[in-house]
Amino acid sequence: MNPWQFDNTYTRLPAVFFERATPAPASAPQLVLFNQRLAEALGLADLDGDLAALFAGQALPEGAEPIAQAYAGHQFGGFNMLGDGRAILLGEHLTPSGTRFDIQLKGSGRTPYSRRGDGLAALGPMLREYIISEAMHALGIPTTRSLAVVTTGERIYRETLRPGAILTRVAASHLRVGTFQYAAARRDDTNLRLLADYTIARHYPELTEAEDKYAAFLRAVLARQAALIAQWQCVGFIHGVMNTDNMALSGETIDYGPCAFLDTYHPGTVFSSIDTEGRYAFGNQPGMAHWNLTRFAETLLPLLAPTEEDAVGIAVEALNTFPDLYEDAWLTRMRHKLGLHSAEESDSELIADLVSWMEASEADFTNTFRTLDDPTSKDATFAAWHARWQARLQHEGTSDADALALMRATNPAVIPRNHLVEEALSAAENDNNLEPLHALLEVLAQPYDYSSAPSKYHEPAPASACG
Ligand code: AMP
Ligand code: MG
Ligand code: MG
Repeated sequence: MNPWQFDNTYTRLPAVFFERATPAPASAPQLVLFNQRLAEALGLADLDGDLAALFAGQALPEGAEPIAQAYAGHQFGGFNMLGDGRAILLGEHLTPSGTRFDIQLKGSGRTPYSRRGDGLAALGPMLREYIISEAMHALGIPTTRSLAVVTTGERIYRETLRPGAILTRVAASHLRVGTFQYAAARRDDTNLRLLADYTIARHYPELTEAEDKYAAFLRAVLARQAALIAQWQCVGFIHGVMNTDNMALSGETIDYGPCAFLDTYHPGTVFSSIDTEGRYAFGNQPGMAHWNLTRFAETLLPLLAPTEEDAVGIAVEALNTFPDLYEDAWLTRMRHKLGLHSAEESDSELIADLVSWMEASEADFTNTFRTLDDPTSKDATFAAWHARWQARLQHEGTSDADALALMRATNPAVIPRNHLVEEALSAAENDNNLEPLHALLEVLAQPYDYSSAPSKYHEPAPASACG
């Protein structure tokens, strides 16, 4: 039986939005990871045949129509025409319940958009995307998923020779802010409208009949991004490359490159070696999201109103709501991290003071919240804050058990700590040892599990491993 149910709506858009592409030959595909739980959710638990060949793009599933998607994007502020240079979309698979997912092979060779790139990916970065995306999903944060990682048998050159690999990425779609920038840059309002209608039908179907459909679309995209970035900030996730081509209109986190989670709290934290200016530092993420969404709003101007002046007015009014949308989403979630169900005026200050304390005392972000109810392991400033927090909790009148339950549902006990991710990747890539990787994935699948004794998975990097 063929479990794949492809219905490739994107290929029915005008031809300027994609190019046909074929995965490159792979000499010796080997399956490294297969996400059985995700496969079950997709109705793909009973795939038969050679899974390594399948996920290496060597045996296309029935109904697949491989393409590379066109898009543009602001990369670190500079605009470029881009497109899938190292990814091939096999098509859109419908789950047994009818949910639509893009199935994409990342690292499967050159496409018409590859420019000078080789179209390939190394094993380490593909495993990294698998680990972090699955960890984000387990944390309850909207994200693309990872179904499989294979090695291709090829060696690819990245400073040294490294094993080539392909990640199978599963996404609500790969429609990006950059897809709209591509359409807008071509100055073809007919295609722009087709793309907008397509995106609305796919991700915001409740707006299909709305009177001010495109303005409502803009507002809905703003709201979803505000909620998403607030979730990142509340677990200490740093995306690393928030270019406009890496912002998905579905509201999912997409494209895991040099991303990482905070250990020590500092808003200036950057992990990406190419982000020398700190453009995408932890504390800048809400502002950069707003910047990206301003680029998105610009693409919609021809659709928003007959005159540019009116269109700009509508766009600006929508964009101006973003800071409050974000702040509200963030504050709500931070209250939950403190065990607070209700909202009080003074909460902002209470939360800001905790954040200041974390910064001043170089506290571990995750562990501060995991052990918030324990003032003895911290300093006198924290003890004073702790007393204020306790008073606030008493004032609310919920039981300690209620507050604790809310805290434990919002404050992860474990996150993918960078040194553990690196350790797992190094063992896999250099020593052919997948054990640390499997152990890490298992722990990260239950991030809110407080029942296991504190272990190395709970602790920040030992001092010697820092820097
Ligand atoms: P990213 O930084 O992964 O968001 O990618 C930015 C752009 O560069 C996208 O158009 C990618 O498809 C392209 N790209 C990244 N790596 C490669 C590669 N090895 N070969 C060809 N294109 C690439
Ligand atoms: Mg084309
Ligand atoms: Mg990208």
